[in-house]
Amino acid sequence: MTQFLRTLQSVRRFADYRKHRIPNKDILIDISNVCNAQCYYCPIGLANRKGAPSCSQSGAPSFMPTDLFQKILQHLKDTQWLQPHTCLLPYIWHEPLLHPEFASIIRIANHFNCPLDISTNANVLPKIPNDFDASRIYIVWFSMPGFSQQSYDKIHKFDFERIKHNITTLVHTFREHGCIGHFKIAFHVYQSNIHELPAAYEFARSLHIDCQPYFATLISFKDIARYLKQELSMDFLSKISRDLFMGLTLNLKGPQSTCPWYNNGLAIDSQGNVLPCCNETDPLGSVFEVTPEKLREWHQGYDFCKECLALGLPNRDNAYCDFYPPHYNWHRQWYLEVLKQCLR
Ligand code: SF4
Ligand code: SF4
Repeated sequence: MTQFLRTLQSVRRFADYRKHRIPNKDILIDISNVCNAQCYYCPIGLANRKGAPSCSQSGAPSFMPTDLFQKILQHLKDTQWLQPHTCLLPYIWHEPLLHPEFASIIRIANHFNCPLDISTNANVLPKIPNDFDASRIYIVWFSMPGFSQQSYDKIHKFDFERIKHNITTLVHTFREHGCIGHFKIAFHVYQSNIHELPAAYEFARSLHIDCQPYFATLISFKDIARYLKQELSMDFLSKISRDLFMGLTLNLKGPQSTCPWYNNGLAIDSQGNVLPCCNETDPLGSVFEVTPEKLREWHQGYDFCKECLALGLPNRDNAYCDFYPPHYNWHRQWYLEVLKQCLR
């Protein structure tokens, strides 16, 4: 197929997705069971800091085998969970680009024709074969804990120059392989890095990509619950008060009676278990047994949901912060990219 036709197909696919998208109807599959970063407020990063990565403790394999990934997608398609306008996110808690067969994972996902949403900390570059097809990638998030070596030393503990290099390479590589999607820097705002935002915007501008700052926070809802119930240790609380903007990230609107995760999308771990949502890691049951009725039943039997609803965590406002006016005209850039791809 020519690049021109492939690009037109992508335009149609993404327009269809935007038109038919049901909020929270996405499918999230953790293809990896490891992350290499050391974010303090994420249970995975904290375990890495302590030298006890969660996967080595549980003895679970580090990555989802490609045949299991294929089997899950086929099953979700056969049971109507996965439809052409369902967005597929091959990550939840861990780093997807660490998967040694990342390109094969995308090839399998492409077969099911869904838009793809990818998020990465950009510390490793996956092997990309010449025939890699990036035309279904709808959005790529680059998760950044600041924009200096000092911030990276504090949080992810990566080499900052390498990260900038890898982000640049990934944008160019995915574009070269037919991606007309949206690239965004997800800038995690801590008290210590807020002054670095203008430099991150400048870097984003130089690559013709977007930058979305949002407040760093406790990632696990169980940790947020412990924070709200004042059950965290004094040391942890004082660290939070020095690092985060908790008052700005917890816009709670009172108790709720239900949660979008009861009826809509699915979060699946690297062993094929359905999770309650993307904020908790306790398996509810096998993806090969899930039905809409079972999903509701599983949630009703999951004790933490009751507490989470009572605290009003599921519908809290997103922790976006817009300190700087948008610098980026997404539509203009998108039309330019479509034109460039058609002329390739
Ligand atoms: S927040 Fe993301 S990048 Fe940081 S340790 Fe957790 S999974 Fe890794
Ligand atoms: S109620 Fe809370 S823990 Fe339960 S699925 Fe919803 S967000 Fe997750």
